[in-house]
Amino acid sequence: MIIDTHSHLYGEEFLADISDVINRARAAGLGKIFLPNINAASIEPMLALTRRDPDFFYPMIGLHPEDLGTTWREVLPQMEALLQQPEHPFIAIGEVGLDYYWDRSLNEEQQEAFAIQVGWAQKYGLPLMIHTRDAHRELVNILKQQIVHCKLSNCTLSGVFHCFGGTAEEAVELLEFEGFMLGIGGVVTFKKSHLPDVLKAAVPLERIVVETDSPYLTPVPYRGKRNESAYLVEVLRKLSQIYEKDIEEVASITTSNALKTFPKSQIIAV
Ligand SMILES: [Zn+2]
Repeated sequence: MIIDTHSHLYGEEFLADISDVINRARAAGLGKIFLPNINAASIEPMLALTRRDPDFFYPMIGLHPEDLGTTWREVLPQMEALLQQPEHPFIAIGEVGLDYYWDRSLNEEQQEAFAIQVGWAQKYGLPLMIHTRDAHRELVNILKQQIVHCKLSNCTLSGVFHCFGGTAEEAVELLEFEGFMLGIGGVVTFKKSHLPDVLKAAVPLERIVVETDSPYLTPVPYRGKRNESAYLVEVLRKLSQIYEKDIEEVASITTSNALKTFPKSQIIAV
């Protein structure tokens, strides 16, 4: 069984052919797909997809750093109210984080929103799905502060640094956060990617989970097309070359990493 730990299959890109997309994913060996939330509007489509197949789809809750808009102070309490329902379906807080790539005018607000949502991970005992772009240093600093707070109140933080694409030094720094994995997707298959060398040099397979980030970041040989969870096999194939292990072994190690990091995805599963 393989797990796509980060896929936006509830998006409108998949409205027309979601049944085929699901069938192809199952045929490719996928047993579970984790769905990171984006904003207030994506919650309902995400939950609708989960209801369709609750042993296959596992939703998260969180506000994406690029989606703060002007209403984030109202949206966050609405999202937290969902977490307060006793049998809520969410397996993680995500995707949350910092993205300074397009617009730096909201840096401080992004940091504030991120810190609040890391607080939810502590309060509700859930892992984090972290998105970060052009903000490595700030992210590490916020997380370090939060972990100090967390240790004082005897809690632990865990999660995934989704779509890792940094240097070996950054990988080492992120892996110092115990209980965190690097999310590796289609980028590792790109011809000019430095990621294979970085992984080989600095990242044990025991610290990797695999993801597609569908519909984005489509792996070779499908680049240019819409990404979908079935293509996760291409990521596993590339990792098997990098780590010089059978694809089955790579699948089994990364799946067990995912189940360990998202314990609630095991409990709900049949
Ligand atoms: Zn995403």
